[in-house]
Formats: sequence, C-alpha cells, structure tokens
Amino acid sequence: MKLLSQNPARGYELVTNHFRGFLRMLSIDRVTTTTISLAWVLAITLVAATVASGDPTEAGNWNYTTNGPSVWNQNFPDQCGTGSRQSPFDIVTAEVIRAKLPKLVFHYTHPITFLDHDDQISIDHGAGNYITIGKTRFDLKSIHQHTPAEYTIDGATPYPLEFHLVHVSAAGQIAVVGVLAKSGKADKAIIQPPSFAEPDTVEIDPRDLLPKKRSYWRFNGSLTTPTAGGVPYPPYCAEEIIWTEMQKPITMSADQISAFEDSNNATWGTTTIARGVQPANGRFVLIPAGTGR
Ligand SMILES: [Zn+2]
Repeated sequence: MKLLSQNPARGYELVTNHFRGFLRMLSIDRVTTTTISLAWVLAITLVAATVASGDPTEAGNWNYTTNGPSVWNQNFPDQCGTGSRQSPFDIVTAEVIRAKLPKLVFHYTHPITFLDHDDQISIDHGAGNYITIGKTRFDLKSIHQHTPAEYTIDGATPYPLEFHLVHVSAAGQIAVVGVLAKSGKADKAIIQPPSFAEPDTVEIDPRDLLPKKRSYWRFNGSLTTPTAGGVPYPPYCAEEIIWTEMQKPITMSADQISAFEDSNNATWGTTTIARGVQPANGRFVLIPAGTGR
C-alpha cells in the first residue's frame, strides 16, 4: 500500500463524519426474488500501518507478516473476526442476482501522479475524479494495490493483482471499486509504474485503468484491513462498504505487475499483500438487471 497508503492523520480526516453517512447506495428498488434490506453506514479507508511492535492487538500494529491476515480475526475481533459481511470473499457467479441498481458512472477525467507514499489523490494530484452511483457522488480518494488479488471468482486461483479505488461521498459513505489484473499486454493507463529508483512515483491515467467492458458485481462488504494506529475509527475491517467489483480483469505486463509487487515488498517486507477470502455468509452479489453474468 505504499503507493497509496494513507497516513493516520489524513485517514482521520477522511473518516471524521463517516458515521453520519447512511448508505442508500444499494437502495435497490427491486430484486428478482428477494427484497433486500441493506443498511449502510460508513467508514473509511485502507490505512497503511507501520511495522508491528508491541501489543499485536493494538490498532496500527498489524501488517502482512508477523501480525498478518491469518491472525487479524483474533487480534482485531471487532469487526475482522465477528463481522458477517467481511471482505474479500469468493464470488460465485452462478449465484449472482439481477437487480435494479442505481446507475454507476465513472467520471475519471484527471490523470494521477503519486510522488511518494503519503501522496493522496484527495489532497494532491488527480483530485476531481469521482463516480456516481445513482445521484450520489463519491470522490476518488486513493488507489492502492493488492498482490495477489483479494477477491476470487468461483474458487479460482487469485489474479496476480487487484487495484482498489477508494471513493468517499460528502456524507462519508465509502464506495470501493475493485479492478482485477491479469498478466499479458502492458496497461497503458499505468504510465509510470513504481521503480527501484523512485519506488513511490506512479503515474496513472484512471480513464484507462478500468476494463473496457464495465460489467460489475455489487455487494456489501468490508475494508480488507484493520485500521491504523491513532485512528479511533472506523472499526477494524469496517463493514457497510459499497463494493463494486469489475467483472473483467484488466491486463498488465509481467514487468508492471512485478513493479507493484516490489513496491508492496518495499513497504511491507512481503509481496503477499492480500487478506484471504472470508465467509460469504449467503451474501447477495448483484448485477444490474439486463446484463449478463
Ligand atoms: Zn484494498
């Protein structure tokens, strides 16, 4: 999360009013067979933690090695361990439900340059990008990468990388867009991948970061990390996040993927920056009515 990691102070700014947000995003008007009541409150963001030291249950003392995802559920039970809608999970495509969903529109018009690991879209380069879900605007606040991908599809091996584009509404509601990446042709949106010389400098044109086909899955999930030290909330692995997972992966070159793995390794001491899949607990995975699976 070097790229797009968030320092605690900035994270706090983002979350200060998250409890005020009550999500209507999923205000699904009608679902094929079931009326789904989805209440959404909010919380924020994937905050990079420093290397663990001391009490492994203390906020901020999580990482991807000695206090990694395999023990988060014990060390941060609320909500990592006790939540019922944790992310990521395995998406079973045969079980998706068509629903009348609020229209999703991407308004990505500003290129993004990350100069260092504290460089945030919300403050610096690239501000002005946003999505709308129905009539609600969610501003793009940060982008970070997981290697390998966190969500899996039909039990398959995870893709090598997944970007999380974190958006927040004026009311503090969080909407994360997940973009899976597979190895292949270079992605032209990644103008300047992280490098050893400038490990944090990354230039991305978000207009091209999305797959051409914009089909997606919509579901209720959580942040996939505990919070950082000094941030009183949101709770660990906070739920009530509006998730939009793009169905089609983008393609990145092996070198591009390696560059992001190296960036993760430089920050965390491992290239494996992904929480394992959590129980879906019968969660609804929705697709817009009239679209295919
Ligand atoms: Zn993430």
